[in-house]
Order: sequence, then C-alpha cells, then structure tokens
Amino acid sequence: MNKEYSKEELSAALKNYFGFSGFKGLQEPVIMNVLAGRDSFVIMPTGGGKSLCYQLPALISSGTAIVVSPLIALMKNQVDFLKSLSETEGIAHVLNSSLTKAEIKQVRADVRSGVTKLLYVAPESLTKEENIEFLNRVTISFVAIDEAHCISEWGHDFRPEYRNLRKIIQRLGGEIPIIGLTATATPKVQEDILKNLGIQEATTFKASFNRPNLYYEIRPKTKSVDADITRFVKNNEGKSGIIYCLSRKRVEELAQTLQVNGIRAIPYHAGLDPKTRVKNQDMFLMEDADVVVATIAFGMGIDKPDVRFVIHNDMPKSIESYYQETGRAGRDGGEGHCLAFYSYKDIEKLEKFMSGKPVAEQEIGLALLQDVVAFAETSISRRKFILHYFGEEFDNETGEGGDMDDNMRHPKKKHEAKDQLVDLLNAVVQTHQKYKAKEVVHVMRGKVNALIKSHKIDAMAIFGAGSDQPSEYWMALIRQALVAGLLTKDIETYGVLKLSDAGHAFLEAPTSFLMTEDHRYKEANDDVVVSTAGQVGAVADQTLFKLLKGQRKTIADKLGLPPFVIFQDPSLEDMALKYPITIEELSNVHGVGDGKAKKYGASFVTLIENYVTENQILRPDDFVVKSTGSNSALKLYIIQSVDRKLPLIDIAQAKGLAMEDFIKEMEAIVYSGTKLNIDYYLEDILDEDSQEELHDYFMEAKSDQVGPALEAFDGDFEEEEIRLYRIKFISDVAN
Ligand code: ADP
Ligand code: MG
Repeated sequence: MNKEYSKEELSAALKNYFGFSGFKGLQEPVIMNVLAGRDSFVIMPTGGGKSLCYQLPALISSGTAIVVSPLIALMKNQVDFLKSLSETEGIAHVLNSSLTKAEIKQVRADVRSGVTKLLYVAPESLTKEENIEFLNRVTISFVAIDEAHCISEWGHDFRPEYRNLRKIIQRLGGEIPIIGLTATATPKVQEDILKNLGIQEATTFKASFNRPNLYYEIRPKTKSVDADITRFVKNNEGKSGIIYCLSRKRVEELAQTLQVNGIRAIPYHAGLDPKTRVKNQDMFLMEDADVVVATIAFGMGIDKPDVRFVIHNDMPKSIESYYQETGRAGRDGGEGHCLAFYSYKDIEKLEKFMSGKPVAEQEIGLALLQDVVAFAETSISRRKFILHYFGEEFDNETGEGGDMDDNMRHPKKKHEAKDQLVDLLNAVVQTHQKYKAKEVVHVMRGKVNALIKSHKIDAMAIFGAGSDQPSEYWMALIRQALVAGLLTKDIETYGVLKLSDAGHAFLEAPTSFLMTEDHRYKEANDDVVVSTAGQVGAVADQTLFKLLKGQRKTIADKLGLPPFVIFQDPSLEDMALKYPITIEELSNVHGVGDGKAKKYGASFVTLIENYVTENQILRPDDFVVKSTGSNSALKLYIIQSVDRKLPLIDIAQAKGLAMEDFIKEMEAIVYSGTKLNIDYYLEDILDEDSQEELHDYFMEAKSDQVGPALEAFDGDFEEEEIRLYRIKFISDVAN
C-alpha cells in the first residue's frame, strides 16, 4: 500500500517538515518499521523523541493515522505544532467531545478527503459508536497509542479505557498496523502492553534509559530539611531547578522559605488558579524565576533543557515517577543533580494514603513503594539499580556515568557474603519460593508468625540460621542478590522471591559474593541537629557551645539573673551550628527573636566572630536559613490580645488552641525576647505570696525547667501555674 522509502527520502522529509538534520536514537528504524506496515513497540525515556516516530510516517503515508493519547492538553499542543509545520490547515485534528457540531463536520470532511494526516483521539471518544462507524469508512494508515503504559495496572497511570483499544481497532479494519509508545520500561508493564494491544509479534525498539549526565543522591530527611534545601539552592545560585513536594501546603511553605532567603522561587500546584499557574510556569521558562517548587502536577510537557537540579522533598510513589521527575534535569546533556530526601516516615504516610483503596490496587502500590525504599536504602550503584529496575543491564565499572551517584563517590566497604548468600538462597528454595522479602528475612532471623507456623518452616534447620545478623543485613543481601540477577521478584504475586537460573548455578558452585550494607536512615531521622548528614554530619560545635555557655554565665552574673533568661540551651546550640556574626543573623537562630538579639546578642556575636577567625572556620556564607515564621500571625494575635487584657481562655478558644498549646506559644514569644504582660490574669489565680515564692525560686534556680520546680514546691503549685508564672518571670526580668 505504502511506497517504499529510502533513507535519503526519510532524511529529506525530516528536514522538510521538522527542520531537523538527523534522527535521534532509534527514530529511523522505528519509522521504517511503521512504514513497512509492521506493528511496533517503542520504549524510550521521556524526551527521547517518541512523537516523531509516528508523526513523520503519518505525514508521508496515504490515509489518516489515528493517535490515541490520554491528555487533551497534550493532544492540542501536538495538533497546533503540526499545523505550524504545514500550509494545509486540516493536516491534524483533535476529535473529542468538546467540539461543536460544525467543527465535527469539518474534521470529518478533512479526514474523508485525505487532507488530515493525523487524527488525535481520546480513548473515551474512540469508544463512541458513531466515531467507530465513521472511522470504519475511511483509510487509516496506522494507529499510534501514545503513553501506552496507561493500559497496565502496573504502570503509574492506569486508565481503564485503554483496555478497550484492541477491540475497537479490530473493528476499524483487519490489518491496521499499530505502534505503541511508552517511557515506562518495567518488564511487567511491557508485557501487559503487548498482550493487551494484541501485538505480541511487534518489533520492539528499546532505547537505553541511562542518563549518564545525571548525578543521583539521597540524603536522610531530618528536621533541618528546609535548611538543607535552602543551602543546596544557594550553593547553586542562578541555576534552574525544580523541587517536588507531595502536598500543596508543603509547596507553599517551601517556596516561601526560599523566597525569604533571597531565592527567586515560585510555587506551582493544581490548587492555584489557572492564570497564576500559567504565569508561574512562564516565569520559570522565561527565567524570571530560578526555582519552581511544585507538586507532580508540574512537568507534563515541560521541556526546559537547562534544568540543573531536581530535588525531591518527599520520595515519589514509584521508581518510574522518580525516573520521570529526575529526568527533567539536564536534558541538554549538561549538569543535572538529582537530590532526594528520604525518611521512612514519609513512606508510612504514603502507605496510609493507600489504605482506602481497593485491595489489589493497594498491593500494587505497596510493591512499587517497596522498590522506592530499596532504592533509597541501597548502597550499590544507584544507576545500576534504576536500570535493573527497567530491565537493563548496567556495568558500573565501565558503563557511562558509572560513578555519578553518592554511593559510587563515597563507597562503603565491601565484605565477603558467600556463606550468607548460600543460606539465603537455600531459605528461598526450602520455603518453596512462596515468600516475599520480608518473610524470608523472618525465616533467616528465626521470627515466627502465623504464616511461617502454618507452613512448619520454624521446624526447619534453616529457620533462624541467620539470627546473628540484623534484619537490615538480610534485606540488603536480598536486594543485592536481586540486582545481581540471582533472585527474581515475581510481580504478579506482589513480590514473591524466586531463584533465577543464575541463582541455582550459584547454589551448585558458590563463588565469592561481595556485599555492602545498606544505609540506615531510620536512626538519623530522629536527630535534630544533623543537618547535612551523609556529608560532614554538621553537629553543633562543642567547643564553641562551651564558650557560649561561659559568656551567658558572665552576663547573667553581671545582671544578677539566672542564665536561662538570657538564652536557652537550644539557642546556644543552634548558634554553635550556624555561627551567626551579626545581630540580624543571630535573630534567625532558634528561639531568638529580634528583641532578644538586640538586647543580649552583641557580646555573643563578637565572641563567635573571634572564634570563627581564630579557628579559620569556613563559615558557609549561606548559613542563615530564615524561617517564614509560619505562625507569626498567630503570635501577633496573641500579643495584641494580651495587650488588650483579654481573658487567656478566650484567646486560646478564638484560635482553637488547647491551653497547653496556647501556653507553649506564649513561652515561645517571651523566650524569643518579646514582653507579654499577663499580670491581669495571674492576679486571679495566684495570690501575692505565691507569686513572691515563685519569683524567688526562679531567681535562684539553676534551670527554668518545670520538673525541678514542681518537685521543689512539692505539690503546692500546679504545672500550669508554674508555667504561667514563668512566662511573667521571663518577660519581666529578661525582656
Ligand atoms: P517523548 O514523547 O519521547 O517524551 P518528544 O516527542 O516530546 O519526546 O520529543 C522531545 C523533544 O525532542 C522535542 O522537543 C522534539 O522536538 C525533539 N526532537 C525529536 N526528534 C528530534 C530530532 N530528530 N532532532 C532534534 N530534536 C528532536
Ligand atoms: Mg511523548
């Protein structure tokens, strides 16, 4: 039906229509295959140039190509683009439910006359009987299914309507060639696509998913994540970057924090009104903003070539998403730093989100999530891990980009694990290859549960054979055996482990197997002061901390005040971490407000400045990570209400605060240096004598802690009374 094309003719068409001087990757062989009327299956990473694989053959074939695509916006873009390539107005059309009757008539006329080379159809519209009848009567060159992973429940974007495509295409005529395209490369999804589209015989074209210019790094997510991100961005000033967050709220917060710190950042999420969204997206594209903080709503169709970093404030739901999102960095082949912050708590949050969904969907979601955990915790080449996930072999010794991740730059020591691996593989075999990783770990560690009991595994010799090693060790060994290809994970049963042929061969004749233990981030998560762990582990400078305490004592003695009213310990610790050398910088330290910084700060910043100079400390010039004072509105409200002498209970109620939390807010206010006069309230609850007793106590006390005070008074005062009085005390004496 089609005439044969030579390579020269194809190149001429490429130049003619698209203005490109050469094909990208596998485009040429794909196009030849399509033109030859064979089914094709194209797997290329995002940005690989998939569209051209059907656009070009459609333009030079007789008849109309039908393009199925899930997103109306993307279809519109493509149609506009194609129209811009040609003088023929009707060269491409969209057929969907939003068209008017007149428009539909025009589309049909253009298709019938053969003018239209590409007809974009949403899967829903394709199921409509009238459309099927119409298409049945026209010449169709081929059908392209873009984003073909939507057909699989195992992809990250399952669309049930995609499941009907095969039946419909059959009704359109016998021998219409099909081309399926996707950027999702997991073997399971691929298999699903081929089966559901009924194109098992298709020629498969798979491009490598390796992005050698991307650097992958995972850091533990601690309480200092705001500071960590701000520092990273400041160290990359002027470069374009995307920061992904799971929630809209977090997007807003983080964008604000960055703005306060002088970074040109803008938020982007689906909750913004469309105008703002378009404006913010344009600002990023036009480089009026350097950084966009966004939910995953951002990025579809974004093709900024010089994005220099992609940060994940939260881990994504699957490796596919991670790959897609990080893939937006370094499109031009230049630097692309992919930094993700990982905390197991976040994974648990994601698990909870899923708990309302149907069971099968949950199982799939959890299985995908477990791979994210494995990726974060692994200590092997991250590139090898990702590519293995996508069914691709990668040798990190010789492969391109082999040293481009944190694990390869800072490798952990390897040790021999041959015997342990033999035990592990034996455990998998002896439990009849029916267990998932978690359960196999239980077997190795000798942990009984109902399942293990019912299978009588606890009576076997292998049960507990590895109790000398912690669970994390066995989990790491399983993950490394998977990547080494000795074990496989059965996706259909949500992750049951099986021995591969190579695994069996290993058991017959065991050889050396070097492993590294995985990262353990869980411990780091609870740390408050670890800031850039994984790097130098920035913990407060203990020498400076002692000096600062000494300084506090000197001043306290001079003023005849207890030290804690000057600065509290956490504030000193934070100073010993951040090295503030101006009053302004000091006012950004934990628990130190403007007032306090001005009143007591001078001698402290001088001390720090001298210390920094003498010890030649390289003070990161970007250290001052200002917080947005997210509840500063609340604080202001409290200060004003107390000024007006409103009953404390009313103030708390007006803000929906429990008394306990309300007191905490007031404490934060006075400790950071602002006066709060609550005398009018204390008069009602404490008589003069009691107040005097409490005053004397705090003047003499070594610390301002409530515990010791309660003890000292032996039940004379309630905790709330002590805390309320303490607010007055700090406010009166210190501020
Ligand atoms: P995918 O669908 O695989 O994510 P696209 O089809 O959107 O990728 O193409 C990505 C980018 O590559 C587009 O900007 C496109 O113009 C460009 N591109 C495609 N083919 C070529 C080529 N042969 N030469 C130069 N640029 C190309
Ligand atoms: Mg595409």
